[in-house]
Amino acid sequence: MSHPAFISLDGLDGAGKSTQCRLLADWLRAKGHAVTTCIDPGGTPLGAQLRSLVLHHRSEIDRMCEALLFMASRAQLLAEVIRPALASGNIVLSDRFLLANIVYQGHAGGLDVERLWEVGRFATGGLEPDLTIVLDLSLEQAALRRGRAADRIEKRDLEYHARLRQGFLAEARRRPERIRVVDAAPSIEIVQQAIQGEILSFLCRKGA
Ligand code: ADP
Ligand code: MG
Repeated sequence: MSHPAFISLDGLDGAGKSTQCRLLADWLRAKGHAVTTCIDPGGTPLGAQLRSLVLHHRSEIDRMCEALLFMASRAQLLAEVIRPALASGNIVLSDRFLLANIVYQGHAGGLDVERLWEVGRFATGGLEPDLTIVLDLSLEQAALRRGRAADRIEKRDLEYHARLRQGFLAEARRRPERIRVVDAAPSIEIVQQAIQGEILSFLCRKGA
């Protein structure tokens, strides 16, 4: 089948993105679609180095510098993986994309959200996911899934994660045609079914 589509999954760490991406890829392939999966930031050798630079840098990284390193990694991911995959008619499933930059460095980090969208559009050449699934989960549950006792999260951490969650929801409210929120609290299977429902109605709208 040759119906290229660009889909991303996003949400808090621990929400279930990697788990659901994997299941979604299996499901789409079983339906006969060619699927390319990738992860942002990262997803290419250069992107992996940039990601590791940010994660392992010893001193504080300026937020703008961090945002731009993620933008750089994404530009390479688009050039090396996403554009070629779409050009050959694949469905691309990206574990996170630009929205995470907007939410982490903008809504939670304090950088101007509109300017980040502008820089993001420039860095991606305007290519954006046709559909983004935001996996929405309470901060406590996300922390538990990340392997941390919810009662041990510091207040500062909670406030930061609350801004992240609210940021994802605010962006989804602003762009309901492209960003769909799925409740990530139920079992892996139920969440997968809800995601599949969103994908089916999206593919249907596309006529695929
Ligand atoms: P993310 O990629 O968003 O950080 P993961 O997919 O790595 O999240 O999931 C984090 C952890 O939570 C994993 O151990 C995973 O097995 C578990 N998990 C994912 N989805 C669910 C779910 N719906 N219910 C219970 N546990 C889940
Ligand atoms: Mg993950």
